[in-house]
Amino acid sequence: QLSQRLARVADYLPKGAHFADIGSDHAYLPCFVCLHDLEARAVAGEVNQGPFDSAKNEVEKHGLEERIDVRLGDGLTVVQKGEVEQVVIAGMGGPLIRDILDSGKEKLSNVNRIVVQPNIDSRSLRKWFYEQGFLLVDETIIEENGHIYEILVAEKGNPSTCYNNETFEKEMWLGPFLLESQTEPFIQKCREEWKKKQYIVSQMKQAYSPDEEKLKQQNKEIQWLEEVLRK
Ligand code: SAM
Repeated sequence: QLSQRLARVADYLPKGAHFADIGSDHAYLPCFVCLHDLEARAVAGEVNQGPFDSAKNEVEKHGLEERIDVRLGDGLTVVQKGEVEQVVIAGMGGPLIRDILDSGKEKLSNVNRIVVQPNIDSRSLRKWFYEQGFLLVDETIIEENGHIYEILVAEKGNPSTCYNNETFEKEMWLGPFLLESQTEPFIQKCREEWKKKQYIVSQMKQAYSPDEEKLKQQNKEIQWLEEVLRK
């Protein structure tokens, strides 16, 4: 049984996908996709030997060796330019996912969709997509086993069209689609962030000479959260 988190990631792959799953661990995602779609093919990339072995075993268990190639290597080094049409990177921190994308960006020129599921700091990915000319086309937020997960989907395109000029910074942080959808997990995340930020601000104020710029930024973010929670 695939986690709801990875099932939602899989929903963002087109029929007949030919994708790379970087940091595939047990290769649960590519196995699920290929078992449900006979046209799908994948490269499962892993940098660590243990997860690489688990991925190989899982692929063999399902007899999918012809359609899922498990490769050992760092980030996007495991794929050739033009080899895959979609890239998935899930279950890591936003900054690590961003670094993997950034170090392998020459491999992304023919990629028509990137699906990422950062465990923390989705802002770093929105920022990277924006700077690199990828348009955010959708976002989802879900709750599973007490954790909140965000999924971001980007494609080549004009990155500014999904942001509103006046609320750019707020959308870059909280997500333009998530702000629009206002789902329960999103509200829950905002409530948690609000609590964390209240604590941070109270700590900062106790400091001998608080960093006024940082304090101002925290207060601005608290205000954005309150705008969401007031609705
Ligand atoms: N993607 C799966 C998921 O979402 O359930 C597994 C997530 S697991 C927490 C992260 C995996 O990424 C680990 O198996 C780790 O070995 C792998 N990893 C970390 N950095 C990597 C890199 N630079 N290149 C490839 N794999 C990496």
